[in-house]
Amino acid sequence: MSEKAAVRPEDLARAADALAGARRVVVSTGAGMSKESGIPTFRDALEGLWAEFDPQELATEQGFRANPRRVWSWYAWRRRRVVEAAPHAGHLAVTELQRLLPSVTVVTQNVDGLHAAAGSEDVVELHGNIRRLRCLDAGHLFTGEIPGEDDTERDPPPCPACGSPLRPDVVWFGEMLPRVAVERAWDDARRCDALLLVGTSGTVWPAADLPHIARSNGAFVIEVNPETSELTGIANVFLQGTAGGLLPRLVHEVRARVG
Ligand code: NAD
Repeated sequence: MSEKAAVRPEDLARAADALAGARRVVVSTGAGMSKESGIPTFRDALEGLWAEFDPQELATEQGFRANPRRVWSWYAWRRRRVVEAAPHAGHLAVTELQRLLPSVTVVTQNVDGLHAAAGSEDVVELHGNIRRLRCLDAGHLFTGEIPGEDDTERDPPPCPACGSPLRPDVVWFGEMLPRVAVERAWDDARRCDALLLVGTSGTVWPAADLPHIARSNGAFVIEVNPETSELTGIANVFLQGTAGGLLPRLVHEVRARVG
């Protein structure tokens, strides 16, 4: 079935009405948001070259300490893909939504920085950003050019300030989310009138809590995803399709109501 046929016009209209009438909106995005930019989801990223490794070995501090070369090289591979990627029509539609409506906060689980690359402002990054580095032991941020970035395999470079190995500034399994980002996201989810959920399976906590918080405080929840997720049950409207295909259509409908 084509995407156009899958989405009922009345569902698109209800979603657009809710967004157009909202004073505050939260757009909450996951890995599926970036798939059409060629960034693999976590599961996709563990296929092929990396299929033999457990996520516990690649995305935990213990895994990094046990095999820094392997973890550094995996993140360098992912970082190269991110740097080469460009935002797609769905990212641009989110940016346009920010221009059309009085208050739209983008809260993302993604670490790729593509919302900002698409011109979105006020992006809350719950899981950090793969383009940034900090050192393992003291947390010093590293802002220079990353040495040996094109090497397929290498050891992590040392922190210029203290010599501790550099690591990506992302949240690994078992780590706390950045406090400021969490406070902002939870606060906005409590206060929003509509929450637009895009491309997340709803299996990673605490991010999966956001739509529950919004819904229980009276917000209208819209989900965009080609498949049902753990969160489809609480969505007021489920729009089945991809971010790149559906978000421009949805924002077009919003523009027709507020423009
Ligand atoms: P997930 O991988 O668990 O689920 C991806 C979801 O996206 C699925 O529900 C899938 O049906 C949906 N999807 C697939 N293609 C889509 C499309 N074209 N448009 C819209 N939706 C689509 O993702 P998650 O829930 O975000 O959890 C994975 C975790 O891994 C996150 O916490 C994130 O930090 C991290 N991660 C980030 C990136 C990134 O920065 N781009 C990539 C991989 C993983």
